[in-house]
Amino acid sequence: MTHMPAASRLPKTVAAQPPIGGGQTVFYPWASPFPRPLIVRAEGIRMWDDQGRDYIDLSSGPVVSNIGHGNVHVAEAMKQQALTVDFAYCANARSQANLDLTERIARLAGPGFERVCLSSGGSEAVEVAVKFLRMRALSRGETDRTQIITCDPSYHGSTLLTLAMSGDPDCLPFIAGMIAPSARVPAPITYRLPPNHTPETHAAACADALEARIKSIGADRVLAFFLEPVGGLATGASVPPASYFRRIREICTAHSIALVFDEVLCGTGRTGKFLAAHNWPDALPDMVVMAKGLGSGYAPLAATLVPAVWADELAQTTGFAFSHTYSANPIACATGLAVLDEYDRLGVLANTRQQGAALREGLEALKRSTKVVGDVRGMGLLLALELVTDQASKGTWPTDFSPVDLIKRISLEHGLLIYGRRTALGSNGDWIMVSPPMTITAPECAELLQRLTATLTAFETECRRLGVIGQDAPVTSNGPRVNQEH
Ligand code: PLP
Repeated sequence: MTHMPAASRLPKTVAAQPPIGGGQTVFYPWASPFPRPLIVRAEGIRMWDDQGRDYIDLSSGPVVSNIGHGNVHVAEAMKQQALTVDFAYCANARSQANLDLTERIARLAGPGFERVCLSSGGSEAVEVAVKFLRMRALSRGETDRTQIITCDPSYHGSTLLTLAMSGDPDCLPFIAGMIAPSARVPAPITYRLPPNHTPETHAAACADALEARIKSIGADRVLAFFLEPVGGLATGASVPPASYFRRIREICTAHSIALVFDEVLCGTGRTGKFLAAHNWPDALPDMVVMAKGLGSGYAPLAATLVPAVWADELAQTTGFAFSHTYSANPIACATGLAVLDEYDRLGVLANTRQQGAALREGLEALKRSTKVVGDVRGMGLLLALELVTDQASKGTWPTDFSPVDLIKRISLEHGLLIYGRRTALGSNGDWIMVSPPMTITAPECAELLQRLTATLTAFETECRRLGVIGQDAPVTSNGPRVNQEH
């Protein structure tokens, strides 16, 4: 999503006025604190710009390019599908690519996720989940079921509805008067805890807060609880304790509320298992939403996974009556199949577990060698570094200083393209994603760590020069903005 503008003490890089057109970036603020290189070639984990500089794609874009760039098998499958059946409108006709991909995803997802509704992106797929549940409620005569519960912080997309579902205070002025925000409960974050809490006790309190919220709304008015099982844009790869998953599963079952995992970012193998949900098999959700890695950057592709009993029951009555022109587009489906073929051929899940463990070790060592990394977290090859002004106090940064913007600029000089985020002017923390393509090799991991170390060293030096860290820097910790009620 785009971010609400915030004053920054970093100097701005002002782009020259382009001729007509100008690319997507003309819609972003022209005065940006970091330049955006013009990428002319990409292969494996690397990208090259028009000046011949190479970059390691540290975060796979926004955690998308799971199988890396320039994969010839995927490109060939896309070409063949375009030449065979480029388009078959799903409301009028069926396509073999659609049938094959949905069967493949359902098999990989396992029992309980037998029906797969395809769409073109994460926000769309989250909306499919909401609309499916609403259609189901209406068909069962449960007309009052309209309320969605989400976490604060969280991120569920960039359409109006999914912005309203996202626990991001920056969005509230934008949606005010247009659409009501979802009901919120504290997210089970593990780093910036309220006083006197461990991650476990905090997660238990968050689960209690969910139950209390359900009761205060009235269980028969709640459609679903949406959760990112491993955090993405809003919490930077935060992984709740296993006990949280068991408890929220019990709560949703007890109150007959759908539990939906938004795995747009953390699904499709990022954690080392096909679904992130597979890491907590005794607490599986009712539905799962996937996107990003499914098309791996080659095609816009997303999926909403639903139990057969729910989809088939609805199909006996109204059916799920919504589609988009590009839903289940054959070329996107063929791309998804080819991506999953590459997962098998290249052993991507096993590599994710192996390189993820090695990379994590390297990041822990990096944390020990710098003062500006407060936390290393995540699973598999979905890892993040939280940037702090001081490790002991978990110091947050001044509101007019975005460490993420600065590190993005510095990283370009050291051959890294980084994705990171600050929310709520940094009071929810500032972090960068370390989520390279899941085809990364051991020597590439070592090179990545070298470049990241150089980036962080230069970042720390620049922060001292600017006076935002060091002995003379003011104590700036905002403390956690959310989750303070327990
Ligand atoms: N849900 C989660 C958890 C995400 O991380 C994202 C995007 O980052 C979305 C939904 C929205 O996906 P998209 O940008 O494809 O619409």
